[in-house]
Formats: sequence, structure tokens, C-alpha cells
Amino acid sequence: MPKYSFDEITAHLKSSGFVYQGSEIYGGLSNSWDFGVLGASLKKNIKDLWWKEFIEKSPYNVGIDSAILMNSKTWEASGHLKGFADAMVDCKECKGRFRADKLIGEATGLSAEGKSFEEMDKMIEDNHIVCPDCGKFNWTNARAFNLMFKTYIGTLEDAKSVVYLRPETAQGIFVNFANVQRSARKKIPFGIGQIGKSFRNEITPGNFIFRVREFEQMELEFFCKPGTDLDWYKYWVDYCYSFVKRLGIKEENLRIRAHDPEELSFYSKGTSDIEYAYPFMDWGEVWGIADRTDYDLSQHSKYSGKELSYLDPETNEKYIPYCVEPSVGVERLFLMICCDAYDVEKLEGDDERTVMHLHPAVAPIKACICPLSKKLSEQANKLYEDLCAEFRVEYDEAGSIGKRYRRNDAIGTPFCITYDFDSLEDGCVTVRERDSMEQTRVKIDELKDYIRERIAF
Ligand code: ATP
Repeated sequence: MPKYSFDEITAHLKSSGFVYQGSEIYGGLSNSWDFGVLGASLKKNIKDLWWKEFIEKSPYNVGIDSAILMNSKTWEASGHLKGFADAMVDCKECKGRFRADKLIGEATGLSAEGKSFEEMDKMIEDNHIVCPDCGKFNWTNARAFNLMFKTYIGTLEDAKSVVYLRPETAQGIFVNFANVQRSARKKIPFGIGQIGKSFRNEITPGNFIFRVREFEQMELEFFCKPGTDLDWYKYWVDYCYSFVKRLGIKEENLRIRAHDPEELSFYSKGTSDIEYAYPFMDWGEVWGIADRTDYDLSQHSKYSGKELSYLDPETNEKYIPYCVEPSVGVERLFLMICCDAYDVEKLEGDDERTVMHLHPAVAPIKACICPLSKKLSEQANKLYEDLCAEFRVEYDEAGSIGKRYRRNDAIGTPFCITYDFDSLEDGCVTVRERDSMEQTRVKIDELKDYIRERIAF
């Protein structure tokens, strides 16, 4: 049983400025969300951290930023135009529309992964699964629903001008494989990563920001020599799992689930999901890591007529590289981090505090400067301006020190820095740490080093 209800956590995220309903003043738009001041900052920190750990700190990887709109042939080659379709069923009574596999899974606990449409119809029939909205049993047959958003380029809305909003960032990497390999002079093994928006017209979005129609992905396509792919696959599963653990996520809420052979895509030699025990479901996918063999590059080579193989400069061998793909959604990481960090702690007496135990590296605000008295505003402001140059800090002189601590605990700020009258004499400030609530006297001259060391990943 999760410690806190999902409603409690989402209410906190909405009221404290992490996430707002999209287009709220017009009554919202189904399952669209805007990230507020704190949410945008947390999201940016997650992306920066991924970029640092997967691109900048990696001896193998480089990063790109490709276009959202791509030549439609890309989606023919990738299989998205034909195959990127979920089985959907409609309730004939209330017109509710559901993803057949999710409907079956939620009602029976059975997995419908890899089942044909006919098999899913039979599972719905055999288990007499009723509509979750109206309780009736009157379904259409399962049928395909393409998840790509379609639009038109230019002034004419005809078949030739159709383009799609990309449903994943990966294809922008595959089509640039040769460009990057050549221009960045990369030798196999190497990876190309990118962060960007993806769009899927999900049939049943929901659970707050868990399944949305517009989201951000952080994807790495790691190219290696055939035969070394399973070792690299294991390497990246471990690397991603360690990234999540280093964020401080509780291990009992995490698991790695290897897909059964019948669940695997026909081209994949192995796929594992890192899953988190979200409060609204048993286990939900956060990160997918897949050995995609040479499927993507072979397909693009076939459809474009361009050579996408690699010539090994040492052995003179020529081959189409295999690819291992770790792919994660920023919103899924964001939600996992917030669910895991949220806590309401009992303090002395009847007192309690809401606190988000966010890893300092992703916390939206690193420190809050709290002058003990308004008479110290000038000096405290100077300190604030000095720290601002390096860290995202806030300045707060409203209310008692205790209230200021609580406000900052609730949004996950790791340090509150009190400038008091002694500071004028001894050049020190009191740093109060969020989790332990311990207070330490630190020299102002050493404050930047103190913070830097403690917010490192
Ligand atoms: P699911 O089974 O949950 O639909 P998927 O297996 O289709 O996910 P992938 O295509 O492997 O997902 O996408 C890679 C990652 O992108 C996922 O692990 C997830 O973190 C994220 N992601 C995919 N779809 C969505 C969505 N609709 N909203 C938010 N994040 C998403």
C-alpha cells in the first residue's frame, strides 16, 4: 500500500505551483498539463542531469536536436504508419473509448501484450468485462487506432502535404546516423542522444502526467558491433537503473522487468523496463531499454536508398550497426521523483510538516535566504545576489523563520540560510538542512563550496 494517496500528492503538486491544468481558464483541455514555476525548474533539472550523465560525461555519446516534423517516409520506414496502432474498443452504450489491453489488464490482471485483436475480443467476452464508465457490456470489436497526430505542411491540405508530429524522438537520430558519424568522427561503439517533445494521440491518457498526449522524451540510440549488443544492452540497463537509484528513489519501489519472449517486438533481442510502484497502479513503466538489432538502420537504408552501414577503419569490416535504445519520458521521471519524495512528517507535539525529499541536484530551488529581521535586508540581499550567480536561490523575509522553513520543506528546497545579527560580527550564517533539520554555522566565504558539494549528483 502506498503511504499517500495519489490525490493527496497531485493536490500538493497543483497547489504549490509544480503542475497546472492546461488551458485552465477555458475549462482545460483533456489531459493536458502546464508546468508552473517549480515544475518547469524541476523538469529542466531532470533534463540537464540526463544530458550531463548520458551525453557530456559519457566517453561514447554525443547529442543532437532534430526536427519534430519529418518527411513522412520516415514513418513508413519505421513502421509507425502501419504498426503504431493500439487496439481500441468503444462502448456502444456511453461511447467511451478504451485501449483493449489496458481494459483487460485493469479488469482481470491478465496481460494482453502480443495478442491479436480477435484474441482480445475473446478475452473481453470470456471475462465479461463491463464498461468502467457506465457498467454496461456492449462493445465494438477491437480495431486499430493510429496514435500519430496528423497535420499538413504548406497551404494545401492534400495527401501530399500530410506530415505527422513525431511520436518518438528516436527516428530523428536514426535518419542522422551517417551525418553524425561522419561529422563528429565517431567510431563504433558510440551513441547519439536527444531530448525533445513527442506526441501520441493516446486513446486513454490519464493518471495525471503519467500518460499524456504531449510529452518529452530523453532517448539514446547506442550503436555497436553485432554480437556485442547483448553486453551493451546489459550495460545500459545497469546504467539507467543506477541513475534512478542515485536520484534517491527507494529501492523497494523499483524493479527491472525483462519482457517475456512473446512480448518482444519481432526485431528485438531483449527489452527491459525499469518500473516504479506509482500510487495509482502496481507497477508502471518509467524507462524502456531495448536491443533493437539493426532493424531501424536497415529499414531507413531500404526506404531512403542511402548506405547506412559502417566501415570499421581497423578491420575493414562493413556492417549495419546494432542499436541499444534506453528511452525515458521526462514526465514519468518527474512523477516518480515527486511520488517518492512526498512525505508528511510528525514533529514534536501535534506539529507536522509536509516535505519533499528531492535530491538536491533536481530540487527546483537550491537554497532560500532568510534574514532574521528586516533590518538585515540589505546584507541578506547582497548574499542573495551573490549566490544567484551560481545557484537557483530564493529570498524570503515574510513571516516567522519556522513558517519560512515549512514553506521551503514543502517544495523540496534543501537549504535555508539565515542571516542574523551575529552574521554582521562573525561573517557566518546558519544553514538549516531540509531532511535532518540540523543547523550548522557556515562562513559566508565558504558558503558556495558548501552548497556546491551538497547539491552534486
Ligand atoms: P506504454 O506501454 O506505457 O504506453 P511504451 O512502451 O509505448 O509505453 P515507449 O514507446 O517505449 O513507451 O516510450 C519510451 C518512454 O517514453 C516510456 O518508457 C515512457 O517513459 C515514455 N512515454 C511513452 N508514452 C508516453 C505517454 N503517453 N506519456 C508520457 N510518457 C510516455
